[in-house]
Parts: sequence; structure tokens; C-alpha cells
Amino acid sequence: MKGALIYSDFNRAGRIEASDVDERYQLVDPVVVIDSRKVVEGAVFVALPGERTDGHRFVGAVFANGASWAVVSSEWFSQHGSEHRGEGRRFLVADDPVAAFQQLATAYRERFDIPVIGIGGSNGKTTTKEMVAAVLSTAFKVRVTQGNYNNHLGVPLTLFQLRRDTEMAVIEMGINHPGEMAFLASIARPTHGLLTNIGHEHLEFFGSLDGVAKAEAELFDYLEVSGGTAFVNLDDHRLAAAGASLSRKICYGAVPGEPCAWWAEEVGSDRVGRIAFTLCSEAGIRQPVAMNFIGRHNVTNAVAAAAVGAHFGLAPEQIASGLGELMPASGWKRMELLEAGGVVVLNDTYNANPDSVRLALDTLASLDCSGRKLAVIGDMLELGGNAALEHESIGNYIRQLPIDGCVTIGPLAGSCCQNAQERCLGHFETMDDLDAFLGDYVRPGDAVLFKGSRGMKLELAAEALVKRM
Ligand code: ATP
Ligand code: MG
Repeated sequence: MKGALIYSDFNRAGRIEASDVDERYQLVDPVVVIDSRKVVEGAVFVALPGERTDGHRFVGAVFANGASWAVVSSEWFSQHGSEHRGEGRRFLVADDPVAAFQQLATAYRERFDIPVIGIGGSNGKTTTKEMVAAVLSTAFKVRVTQGNYNNHLGVPLTLFQLRRDTEMAVIEMGINHPGEMAFLASIARPTHGLLTNIGHEHLEFFGSLDGVAKAEAELFDYLEVSGGTAFVNLDDHRLAAAGASLSRKICYGAVPGEPCAWWAEEVGSDRVGRIAFTLCSEAGIRQPVAMNFIGRHNVTNAVAAAAVGAHFGLAPEQIASGLGELMPASGWKRMELLEAGGVVVLNDTYNANPDSVRLALDTLASLDCSGRKLAVIGDMLELGGNAALEHESIGNYIRQLPIDGCVTIGPLAGSCCQNAQERCLGHFETMDDLDAFLGDYVRPGDAVLFKGSRGMKLELAAEALVKRM
């Protein structure tokens, strides 16, 4: 890809290295967008081929709205470039605009001699990066991945948000194929890396949990070769194994007998499940932490964030206040607490897989509510050939849990309800039927968990219930 860019403003044209673009043309704190609607004065617009539409269609519009650069394909430029001739309109022409975008981001990132913390793993990346950023922000100017922009486009976009005064970057890195983590690391060049855990993700591409571990651990491989430091979750035996031979690492977790630098003790929760624990270190620190997050899995996420904060010199009280003040964003949908009319509604509808459904059910079971505990379970999607078995197995799990009942919705979840036997209060085909059941059943004092894959849109049922109460 090197040298494959062509610079053109029609009066001048020539080959240019990605690494020279910002230096030669003085792109200071550039605003780089791939969504034409987000263009501002002076922005760099990257025209990408999309699933629904092709970014090249908007080149005229972005220049009209003040963009000063467009990164476009050579094919498009040879056919349409001259139609967009104009003062102050500059083009970077590439055989592959996606690759050019990534290459430009890498060159831009190279300008910053700051810690860059890459966060990968199967579950909890977004949550953990928010916690890491909250902790680090108590002392540093931090830039962090917005939302879930964690892939081959999201990582470059995040890098372009680094500013002259940025002191640290926290970058979420999401993958679904072997080799992708190594590629994202080659773009973001993390100096530090954290893998949350290894779980059931994209098994259709990774093959097995060991396959997931190998692919995620490409982040550790990158750090080992480049002199970086890894944060290793010893609670996860695959990560413990992947991290065993690393030269520079900080271990965290709560495995008895394992030599962790940081771990949690006295883990508890309040009436609605908000977690509290004592953060402990091998140096003898014991720091109480109380959070606005629900579910014990968030204790591990928080300990990970604490380990990162402590590594960068933050005091235990500072770490605790960073974690304690963090609020789940509105519309968070990851164990989001929506209380209304005396009913505790847990909206965990961001996504679902067998691991996270069990975790959510455990959290519901552990709540201290005066009424009944009901789980509303929607289909877990993207499980490939294992789908039927996994849904049945969740039903078996529910059968032995101390909750009052479950209802299910979706073509796959029916078998979950069947296996839950006497805990099964009904299976519904439509959202209207589910809403009607909940309207009759739920009363003040009850706790209701909503959990299903993103495609099931169960948040609509959660919101409808909250409105009704
Ligand atoms: P994505 O792959 O969509 O980017 P992610 O890895 O960023 O997901 P989050 O969005 O933080 O993960 O959380 C999604 C769900 O994962 C949560 O609702 C919760 O059910 C589960 N989860 C979060 N943290 C953990 C954890 N440490 N262990 C297991 N499951 C977790
Ligand atoms: Mg995420």
C-alpha cells in the first residue's frame, strides 16, 4: 500500500506517502469523517464503499458543506474527479480508499508519543473501556473510542480523534476473524493492552474457544514484540495461559492462589444489584469501591480498569472515585436499571450469548426485591449449529435458579421455556402478546430482566413496561 496515494488539487498532482500527508498539508487536529452528514468546515471526507450506499456519491455534497479533502478511489476519480474541480478542494486518490484511510490513521497516530491502551476480548470491551477511561480521566486528558466503533473503520476513526493535548488514548478493538487483532494493532500501535475474557463470539469464524483465544491473543503477541505491557485476567484460564510467557504484564483477577497484582474481595450488591467490592493489591491496598453498574461481571471489568489506573500512578481513592462516578450512558442497555412504579426493570437487551444470559440470570436471582423475579428471554442469534442446544441449556439453567418464572419470545427461545418446565410462564410469538402478558402479570415489588440478542429488540418491551408502570 505504501506510496499508492496520489495527491491532486487539479493544479498540482503527484504521488505521496500517507505519512507525509498531515505534515506537508498541516492537518492540525483534523476532523476525519466517513459519514457525509458529519462533515464540518475543513473536514477530511473518506469515501467508502458501503453496504447500502457508496460514499463517493456524496463527494459533491461534502465539498459544498465545507470539506477540504476527499479520499476517493482511483476508479471513481478517473471517471468523476474533474466534475468536482474547485478552489480549495483536494483529493487523495487511492486504489483502495479503506486501506488508505487506515494508513493515514496509522501515520497520524505516530505523531503521538503517548500511552495507547488497546482493549479487546469477547465480552465487556465497551464497558471496560468506559471504566478505564473514567479512571484515567481523573488525572489525564483521555480520548476514548466513542460508542462501539471498534473495527477496521472504528479504530482509525478513533485515532483521528487524538488531539494535541491528548495524554492517553483508550481504544476498543473488536474482531471476528483470525488475524484481525494483529491488523488492528498494526494500525493503533497500542503501548498497553487488555483482553477482557474469552467467550462464545463468532465461533463460525474462530472455530472454538481456543480459536477465539488465539485470535484475541494476537494483541498480547503484538505487545510482546513491540515492548508493550499487557493486563492479564487470570480468572480466564485461556488468557492466563496466553499471558504466561509475556515479559511485561500486570495480572488481575480473583483466582485463589494465583499471584495477582489486583483483585476484588467482599463483593456485594445493593437492593437493585449495583455492585460494591473491596479493591485489593499485593502491596496491601484495601480500597472500598461502590458503582452504578449492575452484575458481578462488572467487578472484573472494574478491577481491570483499576489495574490500568494504578499502573499509571493513580491513588486508590482516585481510582474508586473514577469508578464510582461513572454512570451508564442513557440507552446503555447493558444491565441498565429502569425503575418505575416500584418495579425493578433490568434492560440487558444490548446483546445476548449463552455466557451473558447466564450472567444476567444470576444477577436477577441475586436481587433483594420484595416481589417476584421474572426473566424475559429472547432468541440468542448467531449461534450457528449449536443454537437449539444452547437455548435448551438455558432452560435447564433457569429450572434450577431461585427465580419465579420466565417467559420467552422468538422462534429459537421456545425450547428454552420448555426446558425451564414449571418456571415457564409462557412462550410468545409477538411483542404484542408479550406486552399483554407483562401488563397483567407484573406488579409493584417485582423485578423483571429483559435479555435477548440485539436483533430481537427486546428493549421495546422493557420500555413499554416502564411506561405502563
Ligand atoms: P461488542 O462485541 O458488541 O463490542 P463488548 O465486548 O463491547 O461487545 P459490552 O458492550 O461491554 O461488550 O457488554 C455486552 C454484554 O457483555 C453485557 O451486556 C454483558 O452481558 C456482557 N459482559 C460485560 N462484561 C462482561 C464480562 N466481564 N464477562 C462476561 N460478560 C460480560
Ligand atoms: Mg463493544
